Amino acid sequence: MGDDAVCESGQLAKTNLLGLSRGELTDFFVTLGEKPFRAQQMLKWIHQAGVDNFDAMTNISKSLRSQLQQCAEIVAPEIVTQQDSTDGTRKWAIRVTGGSLVETVLIPSDGDRATLCVSSQVGCSLDCSFCSTGKQGFQRDLTAAEIIGQVWLAIKSYDGFNQGNRRVVTNVVMMGMGEPLLNFDNVVSAMNLMLDDFAYGLSKRRVTLSTSGVVPALDRLADVSEVSLAISLHAPNDELRDQLVPVNRRYPIAQLLASARRYIDKQSDTHRVATIEYTLIAGVNDSVAQARELALLLKDFPCKINLIPFNPFSMSDYQRPSKNAINRFWQVLVDANFVTTIRSTRGDDIDAACGQLVGQVADRTKRSERHRASYTDSEPVKFVL
Ligand code: SAH
Ligand code: SF4
Repeated sequence: MGDDAVCESGQLAKTNLLGLSRGELTDFFVTLGEKPFRAQQMLKWIHQAGVDNFDAMTNISKSLRSQLQQCAEIVAPEIVTQQDSTDGTRKWAIRVTGGSLVETVLIPSDGDRATLCVSSQVGCSLDCSFCSTGKQGFQRDLTAAEIIGQVWLAIKSYDGFNQGNRRVVTNVVMMGMGEPLLNFDNVVSAMNLMLDDFAYGLSKRRVTLSTSGVVPALDRLADVSEVSLAISLHAPNDELRDQLVPVNRRYPIAQLLASARRYIDKQSDTHRVATIEYTLIAGVNDSVAQARELALLLKDFPCKINLIPFNPFSMSDYQRPSKNAINRFWQVLVDANFVTTIRSTRGDDIDAACGQLVGQVADRTKRSERHRASYTDSEPVKFVL
């Protein structure tokens, strides 16, 4: 097949190969009349060597390279700012097509491990009462290229590709901006690349999808993915959860836990558990009585619990509980035999902690004022950066 044949296919925009999973890349090359193994070569060039220029792909013939120049591209979103915290956390503001900004955070942990917190949407429609992303309203889904592009850029930023050290990122959590299950196909494609041995080769235990509980999508996920699961619970009963996590009114706790259990039961390896995330907010969900109620609720549910002290942001009146209150809550759960961790607040000095993402950018655009106005009117909140 010559160059003309490709362009005769009526394709107007170039295909961005960055976001294509192995299956999609295989289809792409077969359409070009090429052998399927080209997909593996391309994955390695893009995701293991960090190459975004077809000319550098020395094991691909010149004629195929020039064909690719015409109908394909490898384009990552653009880093706008990079901030380093005193604790080693690094946060990037990333501009995606159309000009919106999302954030990605790399959090180093013990030894040479680091967890990358990746965004899946610009804003979020689910409007949890304690979340700054929710306060922005929903703008749009990220493409698969924009999601995996965050991993690609993070590694590039550390020069990990050049040093052959793409293991700079050892874990990925889909806990940045947005609800990943509301951007199902693109998130699944991107997670497939994270797991693919020809791309990032992460173990399924080291890729975690966090959801506030879109039950039908979680049921679908069980059919196509085996990544680790985190459930954002935040309340021990429906009455309180309805207030904090409005999607609970549609899919209450019992349905959510049943769906999470189905997900875990479907996994091929035994002893999998879900992580229950519980953001502790002073005077709202942090009492000893609520800790006991939570222990009772989760009595037979296979999980570990991660307590996240609330991270304040400018548009919220909520407060972080005292250390004592956090420890008391933790102790009740530990006494009830739950493996329970308290998330240390990282990147505080650069607003990189959970629920604070794009706080600074938002303030710069005076979005907070607009937000308040919208809320007084109880209108659905939508912002454009
Ligand atoms: N939408 C998904 C993933 C992104 S939020 C979800 O809700 O699970 C990632 C985690 O950060 C969630 O557990 C969320 O509840 C928590 N979070 C959001 N805002 C927070 C805040 N201000 N302080 C502490 N944790 C917060
Ligand atoms: Fe969306 Fe998650 Fe924030 Fe809720 S906590 S508004 S689901 S990003």
